Amino acid sequence: MSRPNLPPQLTMVAARLTSCAVAAGLLLAVPDAAPSQTFPGEDPVIRKMWEVGMENSQTETLAQVLMDSIGPRLAGSPELAAAQDWLIGLYGRWGVTVRKEQYGTWRGWRQGYLHVDLISPRMQTLEAELLAWSSGTEGPVEGEVVVPPVGLTEETAAQWLESLAGKFVLTTAPEPMCRAPQELERYAREETVQRIDSLRSAIRDGWEERMRPLGNWRVRERALDEAGVVGVLTSSWSEGWGVNKIFNAGTERAVAVDVSCEDYGLLYRMAERGQRPMIRIDADAEDLGEVPQFNVIAELKGTELPDEYVVLSAHLDSWHAATGATDNGTGTITMLEAMRILKEAYPNPRRTIIVGHWGAEEMGLIGSRSFGEDHPEVVEGLQALFNQDNGTWRIERIEGQGLLYAGQHIGRWISPVPSEISEHITLEFPGAQNNRGSDHVAFLCHGAPAFRLQSPYDEYRQYTWHTNRDTYDKIVFDDLKQNATLAAMLAYGASEDPQRVPRDRAVLPIEPRTGEPRPWVRCGTARRSMGG
Ligand SMILES: [Zn+2]
Repeated sequence: MSRPNLPPQLTMVAARLTSCAVAAGLLLAVPDAAPSQTFPGEDPVIRKMWEVGMENSQTETLAQVLMDSIGPRLAGSPELAAAQDWLIGLYGRWGVTVRKEQYGTWRGWRQGYLHVDLISPRMQTLEAELLAWSSGTEGPVEGEVVVPPVGLTEETAAQWLESLAGKFVLTTAPEPMCRAPQELERYAREETVQRIDSLRSAIRDGWEERMRPLGNWRVRERALDEAGVVGVLTSSWSEGWGVNKIFNAGTERAVAVDVSCEDYGLLYRMAERGQRPMIRIDADAEDLGEVPQFNVIAELKGTELPDEYVVLSAHLDSWHAATGATDNGTGTITMLEAMRILKEAYPNPRRTIIVGHWGAEEMGLIGSRSFGEDHPEVVEGLQALFNQDNGTWRIERIEGQGLLYAGQHIGRWISPVPSEISEHITLEFPGAQNNRGSDHVAFLCHGAPAFRLQSPYDEYRQYTWHTNRDTYDKIVFDDLKQNATLAAMLAYGASEDPQRVPRDRAVLPIEPRTGEPRPWVRCGTARRSMGG
Protein backbone atom coordinates (compact mmCIF):
# COMPACT_ATOMS: atom_id res chain seq x y z
CA MET A 1 0.00 0.00 0.00
CA SER A 2 1.47 3.34 -0.94
CA ARG A 3 1.30 6.45 1.17
CA PRO A 4 1.54 10.11 0.24
CA ASN A 5 5.01 11.41 0.93
CA LEU A 6 5.24 15.06 0.09
CA PRO A 7 7.45 16.91 2.57
CA PRO A 8 6.12 20.20 3.95
CA GLN A 9 8.80 22.30 2.24
CA LEU A 10 7.34 21.53 -1.20
CA THR A 11 4.46 23.84 -0.41
CA MET A 12 6.86 26.75 -0.29
CA VAL A 13 8.96 25.59 -3.21
CA ALA A 14 5.91 25.20 -5.40
CA ALA A 15 4.55 28.58 -4.38
CA ARG A 16 7.87 30.31 -5.06
CA LEU A 17 8.36 28.70 -8.45
CA THR A 18 4.80 29.51 -9.32
CA SER A 19 5.19 33.24 -8.84
CA CYS A 20 8.51 33.25 -10.76
CA ALA A 21 6.82 31.42 -13.56
CA VAL A 22 3.99 33.90 -13.65
CA ALA A 23 6.46 36.75 -13.93
CA ALA A 24 8.57 35.03 -16.57
CA GLY A 25 5.83 33.12 -18.37
CA LEU A 26 7.92 29.98 -17.99
CA LEU A 27 7.19 26.33 -18.21
CA LEU A 28 7.98 24.64 -14.93
CA ALA A 29 7.66 21.34 -13.17
CA VAL A 30 6.69 20.75 -9.58
CA PRO A 31 9.96 19.24 -8.32
CA ASP A 32 10.32 15.64 -7.19
CA ALA A 33 9.99 15.22 -3.46
CA ALA A 34 12.23 13.01 -1.35
CA PRO A 35 10.34 9.85 -0.35
CA SER A 36 8.98 9.86 3.16
CA GLN A 37 5.97 8.41 4.93
CA THR A 38 4.46 11.70 6.10
CA PHE A 39 1.44 13.55 4.78
CA PRO A 40 2.11 17.07 3.54
CA GLY A 41 0.79 18.92 6.52
CA GLU A 42 -1.97 17.96 8.87
CA ASP A 43 -5.00 18.73 6.71
CA PRO A 44 -7.54 16.03 7.64
CA VAL A 45 -9.54 16.65 4.43
CA ILE A 46 -6.54 15.82 2.22
CA ARG A 47 -5.86 12.70 4.34
CA LYS A 48 -9.45 11.59 4.02
CA MET A 49 -9.43 12.23 0.24
CA TRP A 50 -6.35 10.04 -0.11
CA GLU A 51 -8.00 7.30 1.90
CA VAL A 52 -11.24 7.39 -0.14
CA GLY A 53 -9.65 7.94 -3.56
CA MET A 54 -6.40 5.96 -3.39
CA GLU A 55 -7.05 3.23 -0.85
CA ASN A 56 -10.74 2.61 -1.60
CA SER A 57 -10.98 3.56 -5.27
CA GLN A 58 -14.16 2.61 -7.09
CA THR A 59 -12.84 3.54 -10.53
CA GLU A 60 -12.66 -0.07 -11.77
CA THR A 61 -16.21 -1.04 -10.85
CA LEU A 62 -17.66 2.26 -12.11
CA ALA A 63 -15.73 2.10 -15.41
CA GLN A 64 -16.71 -1.51 -16.01
CA VAL A 65 -20.40 -0.68 -15.79
CA LEU A 66 -20.12 2.42 -17.97
CA MET A 67 -17.98 0.91 -20.74
CA ASP A 68 -18.95 -2.78 -20.76
CA SER A 69 -22.56 -2.80 -19.65
CA ILE A 70 -23.88 0.54 -20.93
CA GLY A 71 -21.50 0.81 -23.91
CA PRO A 72 -20.95 3.54 -26.52
CA ARG A 73 -22.70 6.84 -25.85
CA LEU A 74 -23.33 8.56 -29.17
CA ALA A 75 -25.40 11.77 -29.04
CA GLY A 76 -29.03 10.77 -29.61
CA SER A 77 -28.49 7.09 -28.75
CA PRO A 78 -30.43 5.07 -26.16
CA GLU A 79 -27.06 4.17 -24.54
CA LEU A 80 -26.31 7.84 -23.78
CA ALA A 81 -29.73 8.14 -22.14
CA ALA A 82 -29.00 4.94 -20.15
CA ALA A 83 -25.65 6.35 -19.00
CA GLN A 84 -27.39 9.52 -17.80
CA ASP A 85 -29.97 7.51 -15.85
CA TRP A 86 -27.17 5.42 -14.33
CA LEU A 87 -25.42 8.61 -13.12
CA ILE A 88 -28.67 9.95 -11.66
CA GLY A 89 -29.13 6.70 -9.72
CA LEU A 90 -25.53 6.62 -8.46
CA TYR A 91 -25.49 10.19 -7.21
CA GLY A 92 -28.87 9.61 -5.59
CA ARG A 93 -27.47 6.61 -3.67
CA TRP A 94 -24.45 8.66 -2.62
CA GLY A 95 -26.71 11.42 -1.29
CA VAL A 96 -25.51 13.98 -3.84
CA THR A 97 -28.08 16.37 -5.35
CA VAL A 98 -28.35 15.66 -9.08
CA ARG A 99 -30.52 16.71 -12.02
CA LYS A 100 -30.93 16.17 -15.76
CA GLU A 101 -31.18 19.42 -17.72
CA GLN A 102 -32.57 19.33 -21.24
CA TYR A 103 -30.71 21.63 -23.61
CA GLY A 104 -32.07 20.54 -26.97
CA THR A 105 -32.80 17.57 -29.23
CA TRP A 106 -30.75 15.35 -31.59
CA ARG A 107 -31.42 12.70 -34.18
CA GLY A 108 -31.95 9.46 -32.29
CA TRP A 109 -30.29 6.33 -33.65
CA ARG A 110 -30.21 2.76 -32.43
CA GLN A 111 -27.15 0.83 -33.59
CA GLY A 112 -27.82 -2.88 -33.95
CA TYR A 113 -25.57 -5.61 -35.38
CA LEU A 114 -23.42 -5.50 -38.50
CA HIS A 115 -22.11 -8.43 -40.57
CA VAL A 116 -20.00 -7.87 -43.66
CA ASP A 117 -18.79 -10.86 -45.69
CA LEU A 118 -16.85 -11.31 -48.90
CA ILE A 119 -18.89 -13.94 -50.78
CA SER A 120 -17.14 -14.09 -54.17
CA PRO A 121 -14.62 -15.07 -55.54
CA ARG A 122 -14.11 -16.61 -52.07
CA MET A 123 -15.62 -16.37 -48.61
CA GLN A 124 -14.21 -14.21 -45.83
CA THR A 125 -15.83 -12.29 -42.99
CA LEU A 126 -14.66 -8.67 -43.10
CA GLU A 127 -14.02 -6.29 -40.22
CA ALA A 128 -16.26 -3.23 -40.45
CA GLU A 129 -18.27 -0.70 -38.43
CA LEU A 130 -21.52 1.10 -39.20
CA LEU A 131 -21.07 4.84 -39.65
CA ALA A 132 -23.22 6.84 -37.24
CA TRP A 133 -26.85 7.42 -38.29
CA SER A 134 -26.50 4.98 -41.20
CA SER A 135 -29.60 3.17 -42.39
CA GLY A 136 -29.83 -0.55 -41.82
CA THR A 137 -30.33 -3.03 -44.67
CA GLU A 138 -33.57 -4.76 -43.53
CA GLY A 139 -32.01 -8.16 -44.03
CA PRO A 140 -28.88 -9.24 -45.92
CA VAL A 141 -28.09 -7.49 -49.21
CA GLU A 142 -25.53 -8.68 -51.77
CA GLY A 143 -23.76 -6.87 -54.56
CA GLU A 144 -20.55 -6.23 -56.44
CA VAL A 145 -17.95 -3.84 -55.02
CA VAL A 146 -16.83 -1.17 -57.49
CA VAL A 147 -14.28 1.63 -57.59
CA PRO A 148 -14.82 4.93 -59.43
CA PRO A 149 -12.86 4.57 -62.70
CA VAL A 150 -9.81 6.68 -63.51
CA GLY A 151 -10.46 9.53 -65.91
CA LEU A 152 -14.11 10.31 -65.13
CA THR A 153 -15.29 13.70 -66.32
CA GLU A 154 -18.45 15.48 -65.26
CA GLU A 155 -20.26 14.01 -68.29
CA THR A 156 -18.98 10.44 -67.89
CA ALA A 157 -19.60 10.64 -64.11
CA ALA A 158 -23.33 10.90 -64.79
CA GLN A 159 -23.19 7.77 -66.99
CA TRP A 160 -21.14 5.89 -64.41
CA LEU A 161 -23.64 6.78 -61.68
CA GLU A 162 -26.38 5.18 -63.80
CA SER A 163 -24.50 1.87 -63.67
CA LEU A 164 -24.43 1.69 -59.87
CA ALA A 165 -27.86 0.43 -58.84
CA GLY A 166 -27.49 -2.57 -56.53
CA LYS A 167 -23.73 -2.10 -56.07
CA PHE A 168 -21.34 -1.17 -53.27
CA VAL A 169 -18.94 1.72 -53.92
CA LEU A 170 -15.53 2.39 -52.38
CA THR A 171 -15.21 6.14 -51.78
CA THR A 172 -11.95 6.70 -49.85
CA ALA A 173 -8.36 6.16 -50.95
CA PRO A 174 -6.89 2.74 -50.06
CA GLU A 175 -3.65 2.47 -48.06
CA PRO A 176 -0.59 0.79 -49.60
CA MET A 177 0.29 -0.67 -46.18
CA CYS A 178 -1.53 -1.02 -42.84
CA ARG A 179 1.52 -1.27 -40.58
CA ALA A 180 1.95 1.40 -37.91
CA PRO A 181 4.54 3.88 -39.31
CA GLN A 182 6.74 3.69 -36.22
CA GLU A 183 7.16 -0.07 -36.79
CA LEU A 184 8.02 0.46 -40.45
CA GLU A 185 10.57 3.09 -39.49
CA ARG A 186 12.07 0.76 -36.94
CA TYR A 187 12.51 -2.31 -39.11
CA ALA A 188 12.52 -1.27 -42.78
CA ARG A 189 15.36 0.16 -44.86
CA GLU A 190 15.32 3.93 -45.16
CA GLU A 191 14.57 3.68 -48.91
CA THR A 192 11.63 1.35 -48.22
CA VAL A 193 10.11 3.88 -45.81
CA GLN A 194 10.53 6.60 -48.44
CA ARG A 195 9.09 4.44 -51.20
CA ILE A 196 5.97 3.61 -49.18
CA ASP A 197 5.53 7.25 -48.15
CA SER A 198 5.68 8.43 -51.74
CA LEU A 199 3.42 5.61 -52.90
CA ARG A 200 0.88 6.69 -50.27
CA SER A 201 0.99 10.33 -51.42
CA ALA A 202 0.64 9.27 -55.06
CA ILE A 203 -2.39 7.09 -54.27
CA ARG A 204 -4.04 9.91 -52.31
CA ASP A 205 -3.43 12.48 -55.04
CA GLY A 206 -4.65 10.08 -57.71
CA TRP A 207 -7.75 9.29 -55.67
CA GLU A 208 -8.62 12.95 -55.23
CA GLU A 209 -8.32 13.42 -58.97
CA ARG A 210 -10.52 10.37 -59.57
CA MET A 211 -13.27 11.56 -57.20
CA ARG A 212 -13.33 15.24 -58.22
CA PRO A 213 -15.95 14.90 -60.99
CA LEU A 214 -18.37 13.46 -58.42
CA GLY A 215 -18.39 16.72 -56.41
CA ASN A 216 -17.71 17.37 -52.73
CA TRP A 217 -18.56 14.83 -50.03
CA ARG A 218 -22.16 15.96 -49.53
CA VAL A 219 -22.94 16.21 -53.25
CA ARG A 220 -21.33 12.85 -53.96
CA GLU A 221 -23.12 11.00 -51.15
CA ARG A 222 -26.46 12.38 -52.33
CA ALA A 223 -25.70 11.35 -55.92
CA LEU A 224 -24.79 7.81 -54.81
CA ASP A 225 -28.04 7.57 -52.82
CA GLU A 226 -30.03 8.74 -55.86
CA ALA A 227 -28.15 6.31 -58.12
CA GLY A 228 -29.51 3.43 -56.02
CA VAL A 229 -26.22 2.06 -54.62
CA VAL A 230 -26.89 -0.43 -51.81
CA GLY A 231 -23.91 0.65 -49.77
CA VAL A 232 -21.01 3.08 -49.48
CA LEU A 233 -17.72 1.77 -48.07
CA THR A 234 -15.01 3.95 -46.57
CA SER A 235 -11.86 3.32 -44.57
CA SER A 236 -10.54 5.98 -42.23
CA TRP A 237 -7.29 4.40 -41.06
CA SER A 238 -5.80 5.78 -37.84
CA GLU A 239 -2.23 4.81 -38.75
CA GLY A 240 -1.89 1.94 -36.30
CA TRP A 241 -2.45 -1.81 -36.17
CA GLY A 242 -6.14 -2.60 -36.63
CA VAL A 243 -7.35 0.87 -35.85
CA ASN A 244 -9.79 3.10 -37.74
CA LYS A 245 -11.52 6.35 -36.81
CA ILE A 246 -15.28 6.00 -37.14
CA PHE A 247 -17.55 9.00 -37.71
CA ASN A 248 -20.91 9.64 -39.39
CA ALA A 249 -22.61 8.49 -42.57
CA GLY A 250 -23.13 10.81 -45.55
CA THR A 251 -25.87 8.80 -47.25
CA GLU A 252 -29.50 8.77 -46.10
CA ARG A 253 -30.74 5.60 -47.82
CA ALA A 254 -27.71 3.43 -48.62
CA VAL A 255 -25.97 1.64 -45.76
CA ALA A 256 -22.66 3.35 -44.86
CA VAL A 257 -19.87 1.21 -43.48
CA ASP A 258 -16.24 1.81 -42.53
CA VAL A 259 -14.03 -1.19 -43.40
CA SER A 260 -10.71 -1.99 -41.71
CA CYS A 261 -7.54 -0.87 -43.51
CA GLU A 262 -6.66 -4.48 -44.40
CA ASP A 263 -10.08 -5.55 -45.68
CA TYR A 264 -10.68 -2.31 -47.55
CA GLY A 265 -7.35 -2.76 -49.32
CA LEU A 266 -8.36 -6.32 -50.22
CA LEU A 267 -11.64 -5.17 -51.79
CA TYR A 268 -9.90 -2.33 -53.61
CA ARG A 269 -7.19 -4.53 -55.13
CA MET A 270 -9.69 -7.14 -56.27
CA ALA A 271 -12.04 -4.57 -57.80
CA GLU A 272 -9.20 -2.68 -59.49
CA ARG A 273 -7.78 -5.89 -61.02
CA GLY A 274 -11.06 -7.16 -62.42
CA GLN A 275 -11.59 -9.95 -59.88
CA ARG A 276 -15.15 -8.68 -59.25
CA PRO A 277 -15.50 -8.96 -55.46
CA MET A 278 -19.04 -9.51 -54.18
CA ILE A 279 -20.01 -8.81 -50.58
CA ARG A 280 -23.03 -9.33 -48.38
CA ILE A 281 -24.00 -6.83 -45.69
CA ASP A 282 -26.58 -7.39 -42.98
CA ALA A 283 -26.97 -4.25 -40.89
CA ASP A 284 -29.53 -3.55 -38.20
CA ALA A 285 -30.08 0.11 -37.30
CA GLU A 286 -33.06 2.30 -36.53
CA ASP A 287 -33.72 6.01 -36.92
CA LEU A 288 -35.53 7.15 -33.75
CA GLY A 289 -36.40 10.67 -34.89
CA GLU A 290 -35.68 13.77 -32.79
CA VAL A 291 -35.09 12.88 -29.14
CA PRO A 292 -34.48 15.21 -26.15
CA GLN A 293 -30.85 15.72 -25.10
CA PHE A 294 -29.51 16.40 -21.61
CA ASN A 295 -26.62 17.39 -19.39
CA VAL A 296 -26.38 15.67 -16.00
CA ILE A 297 -25.45 18.09 -13.22
CA ALA A 298 -24.48 16.94 -9.71
CA GLU A 299 -23.97 19.49 -6.95
CA LEU A 300 -22.65 20.03 -3.43
CA LYS A 301 -24.08 23.37 -2.29
CA GLY A 302 -21.61 25.96 -0.96
CA THR A 303 -22.06 26.81 2.70
CA GLU A 304 -20.36 30.24 2.74
CA LEU A 305 -20.29 31.32 -0.91
CA PRO A 306 -23.12 29.39 -2.61
CA ASP A 307 -23.11 31.74 -5.61
CA GLU A 308 -19.47 31.01 -6.42
CA TYR A 309 -18.72 27.78 -8.26
CA VAL A 310 -16.06 25.15 -8.76
CA VAL A 311 -16.93 22.96 -11.74
CA LEU A 312 -15.62 19.47 -12.52
CA SER A 313 -16.17 18.96 -16.23
CA ALA A 314 -16.12 15.95 -18.59
CA HIS A 315 -18.30 15.03 -21.54
CA LEU A 316 -20.31 11.85 -21.20
CA ASP A 317 -21.05 11.28 -24.90
CA SER A 318 -18.70 9.36 -27.20
CA TRP A 319 -18.40 8.06 -30.74
CA HIS A 320 -20.03 4.70 -31.25
CA ALA A 321 -17.64 2.13 -32.79
CA ALA A 322 -16.09 1.09 -29.49
CA THR A 323 -17.12 2.04 -25.95
CA GLY A 324 -15.56 5.49 -25.61
CA ALA A 325 -13.24 4.28 -22.84
CA THR A 326 -10.60 7.00 -23.16
CA ASP A 327 -12.84 9.52 -24.93
CA ASN A 328 -14.29 10.20 -22.55
CA GLY A 329 -15.10 7.34 -20.21
CA THR A 330 -11.94 8.07 -18.24
CA GLY A 331 -12.79 11.78 -17.87
CA THR A 332 -16.31 10.83 -16.82
CA ILE A 333 -15.08 8.33 -14.20
CA THR A 334 -12.46 10.84 -12.98
CA MET A 335 -15.11 13.46 -12.22
CA LEU A 336 -17.70 10.97 -10.94
CA GLU A 337 -15.18 9.43 -8.55
CA ALA A 338 -13.94 12.91 -7.57
CA MET A 339 -17.49 13.78 -6.53
CA ARG A 340 -17.72 10.58 -4.48
CA ILE A 341 -14.44 11.54 -2.75
CA LEU A 342 -15.68 15.09 -2.15
CA LYS A 343 -18.98 13.88 -0.69
CA GLU A 344 -17.10 11.63 1.75
CA ALA A 345 -14.26 13.98 2.66
CA TYR A 346 -15.62 17.49 2.11
CA PRO A 347 -19.44 17.34 2.04
CA ASN A 348 -20.02 20.99 3.01
CA PRO A 349 -17.80 23.00 0.68
CA ARG A 350 -17.21 26.73 1.07
CA ARG A 351 -18.13 27.41 -2.57
CA THR A 352 -20.68 25.35 -4.55
CA ILE A 353 -19.07 22.37 -6.33
CA ILE A 354 -20.73 21.13 -9.52
CA VAL A 355 -19.94 18.17 -11.76
CA GLY A 356 -21.02 18.67 -15.38
CA HIS A 357 -21.43 15.45 -17.39
CA TRP A 358 -21.98 17.14 -20.75
CA GLY A 359 -23.88 15.82 -23.75
CA ALA A 360 -22.75 16.04 -27.39
CA GLU A 361 -19.22 17.38 -26.94
CA GLU A 362 -18.33 15.32 -30.01
CA MET A 363 -20.91 17.23 -32.05
CA GLY A 364 -19.32 20.61 -31.20
CA LEU A 365 -19.27 21.20 -27.40
CA ILE A 366 -23.05 21.40 -27.48
CA GLY A 367 -23.89 20.37 -23.90
CA SER A 368 -21.30 22.61 -22.25
CA ARG A 369 -22.00 25.57 -24.54
CA SER A 370 -25.72 25.26 -23.79
CA PHE A 371 -25.00 25.15 -20.07
CA GLY A 372 -22.87 28.30 -20.34
CA GLU A 373 -25.69 30.04 -22.22
CA ASP A 374 -28.40 28.83 -19.82
CA HIS A 375 -26.42 29.52 -16.63
CA PRO A 376 -24.80 32.95 -16.81
CA GLU A 377 -24.75 32.92 -12.99
CA VAL A 378 -22.33 29.94 -13.02
CA VAL A 379 -20.10 31.57 -15.65
CA GLU A 380 -20.17 34.81 -13.64
CA GLY A 381 -19.53 33.09 -10.30
CA LEU A 382 -16.94 30.59 -11.60
CA GLN A 383 -13.92 30.26 -9.36
CA ALA A 384 -12.41 27.47 -11.48
CA LEU A 385 -13.38 24.70 -13.86
CA PHE A 386 -11.31 21.55 -14.37
CA ASN A 387 -11.98 19.60 -17.56
CA GLN A 388 -10.59 16.20 -18.48
CA ASP A 389 -10.88 14.80 -21.97
CA ASN A 390 -7.78 13.20 -23.35
CA GLY A 391 -7.23 9.71 -22.37
CA THR A 392 -6.16 7.44 -19.64
CA TRP A 393 -2.59 8.36 -18.68
CA ARG A 394 -1.78 10.39 -15.60
CA ILE A 395 -2.42 14.10 -15.67
CA GLU A 396 0.90 15.76 -16.40
CA ARG A 397 0.14 19.31 -17.42
CA ILE A 398 -2.11 22.16 -16.36
CA GLU A 399 -2.00 25.30 -18.45
CA GLY A 400 -3.12 28.75 -17.30
CA GLN A 401 -5.08 29.21 -20.56
CA GLY A 402 -3.90 32.80 -20.90
CA LEU A 403 -5.20 33.92 -17.50
CA LEU A 404 -2.50 36.17 -16.12
CA TYR A 405 -2.75 35.40 -12.39
CA ALA A 406 -4.38 31.96 -12.36
CA GLY A 407 -1.02 30.27 -11.82
CA GLN A 408 -0.62 31.62 -8.29
CA HIS A 409 -3.93 30.04 -7.35
CA ILE A 410 -3.36 26.67 -9.03
CA GLY A 411 0.07 26.50 -7.40
CA ARG A 412 -1.58 27.04 -4.02
CA TRP A 413 -4.24 24.38 -4.64
CA ILE A 414 -1.70 21.83 -5.78
CA SER A 415 0.79 22.39 -2.96
CA PRO A 416 -0.91 20.05 -0.42
CA VAL A 417 -1.37 17.32 -3.03
CA PRO A 418 0.82 14.30 -2.17
CA SER A 419 3.94 14.00 -4.30
CA GLU A 420 2.91 10.61 -5.77
CA ILE A 421 0.42 12.66 -7.75
CA SER A 422 1.93 16.14 -7.97
CA GLU A 423 5.48 15.20 -8.98
CA HIS A 424 4.34 14.34 -12.52
CA ILE A 425 2.56 17.63 -13.13
CA THR A 426 3.98 20.54 -15.09
CA LEU A 427 2.29 23.89 -14.56
CA GLU A 428 2.42 26.28 -17.48
CA PHE A 429 1.57 29.91 -16.67
CA PRO A 430 0.01 31.99 -18.02
CA GLY A 431 -0.08 29.49 -20.90
CA ALA A 432 -0.61 29.82 -24.61
CA GLN A 433 -4.27 28.75 -24.66
CA ASN A 434 -3.14 26.03 -27.01
CA ASN A 435 -5.82 23.46 -26.35
CA ARG A 436 -9.17 24.55 -27.62
CA GLY A 437 -10.88 21.30 -28.46
CA SER A 438 -12.91 20.47 -25.40
CA ASP A 439 -15.57 21.68 -22.98
CA HIS A 440 -13.39 24.07 -20.93
CA VAL A 441 -13.55 26.36 -23.98
CA ALA A 442 -17.31 26.87 -23.47
CA PHE A 443 -16.42 28.73 -20.24
CA LEU A 444 -12.97 30.12 -21.07
CA CYS A 445 -14.50 31.91 -24.06
CA HIS A 446 -16.50 34.04 -21.59
CA GLY A 447 -13.22 34.88 -19.81
CA ALA A 448 -13.99 32.52 -16.90
CA PRO A 449 -11.15 30.49 -15.32
CA ALA A 450 -11.46 27.11 -17.02
CA PHE A 451 -8.53 24.70 -17.12
CA ARG A 452 -7.71 21.39 -18.68
CA LEU A 453 -6.18 18.47 -16.80
CA GLN A 454 -3.99 17.09 -19.59
CA SER A 455 -2.57 13.63 -20.13
CA PRO A 456 -0.09 12.74 -22.93
CA TYR A 457 -1.59 12.80 -26.40
CA ASP A 458 0.46 10.88 -28.96
CA GLU A 459 -0.62 7.30 -28.53
CA TYR A 460 -4.16 8.45 -27.67
CA ARG A 461 -4.47 10.21 -31.04
CA GLN A 462 -3.18 7.17 -32.89
CA TYR A 463 -4.97 4.34 -31.13
CA THR A 464 -8.02 5.22 -29.08
CA TRP A 465 -9.31 8.70 -29.97
CA HIS A 466 -12.56 8.21 -31.95
CA THR A 467 -11.52 4.69 -32.93
CA ASN A 468 -12.87 1.14 -32.97
CA ARG A 469 -10.30 0.22 -30.28
CA ASP A 470 -11.35 2.63 -27.51
CA THR A 471 -12.35 -0.04 -24.98
CA TYR A 472 -12.17 -0.82 -21.24
CA ASP A 473 -8.92 -2.82 -21.47
CA LYS A 474 -7.01 0.36 -22.51
CA ILE A 475 -7.71 2.10 -19.19
CA VAL A 476 -4.74 2.49 -16.82
CA PHE A 477 -6.40 2.35 -13.43
CA ASP A 478 -3.30 3.32 -11.43
CA ASP A 479 -3.45 6.65 -13.24
CA LEU A 480 -7.22 6.96 -13.23
CA LYS A 481 -7.52 6.72 -9.45
CA GLN A 482 -4.74 9.31 -9.05
CA ASN A 483 -6.48 11.61 -11.53
CA ALA A 484 -9.77 11.35 -9.64
CA THR A 485 -8.06 12.06 -6.31
CA LEU A 486 -6.24 15.02 -7.87
CA ALA A 487 -9.50 16.44 -9.27
CA ALA A 488 -11.10 16.21 -5.82
CA MET A 489 -8.10 17.88 -4.15
CA LEU A 490 -8.01 20.69 -6.73
CA ALA A 491 -11.75 21.27 -6.26
CA TYR A 492 -11.17 21.43 -2.52
CA GLY A 493 -8.33 23.96 -2.92
CA ALA A 494 -10.35 26.10 -5.33
CA SER A 495 -13.38 26.02 -3.04
CA GLU A 496 -11.40 27.03 0.07
CA ASP A 497 -9.23 29.71 -1.57
CA PRO A 498 -9.72 33.02 0.32
CA GLN A 499 -9.61 34.88 -3.01
CA ARG A 500 -11.33 34.68 -6.38
CA VAL A 501 -9.17 33.83 -9.40
CA PRO A 502 -8.73 37.13 -11.29
CA ARG A 503 -9.80 37.21 -14.94
CA ASP A 504 -7.02 39.46 -16.25
CA ARG A 505 -5.83 38.23 -19.63
CA ALA A 506 -2.28 37.78 -20.85
CA VAL A 507 -1.32 38.82 -24.36
CA LEU A 508 -1.38 35.50 -26.20
CA PRO A 509 1.52 34.33 -28.42
CA ILE A 510 1.87 35.68 -31.96
CA GLU A 511 -0.08 33.77 -34.57
CA PRO A 512 2.39 33.13 -37.43
CA ARG A 513 -0.38 33.44 -40.04
CA THR A 514 -1.36 37.00 -39.06
CA GLY A 515 1.72 38.25 -37.21
CA GLU A 516 -0.68 39.42 -34.47
CA PRO A 517 -1.24 37.96 -30.99
CA ARG A 518 -3.76 35.15 -31.14
CA PRO A 519 -7.26 36.43 -30.27
CA TRP A 520 -9.00 35.11 -27.14
CA VAL A 521 -11.02 32.00 -27.95
CA ARG A 522 -14.56 32.92 -29.09
CA CYS A 523 -17.88 31.54 -27.87
CA GLY A 524 -19.78 29.71 -30.58
CA THR A 525 -23.54 29.39 -30.28
CA ALA A 526 -24.70 25.99 -29.08
CA ARG A 527 -26.19 23.95 -31.93
CA ARG A 528 -29.21 22.63 -30.07
CA SER A 529 -30.55 20.27 -32.72
CA MET A 530 -29.01 18.29 -35.59
CA GLY A 531 -30.62 20.64 -38.10
CA GLY A 532 -29.94 23.74 -35.93
ZN1 LIG B 1 -13.51 13.87 -25.98
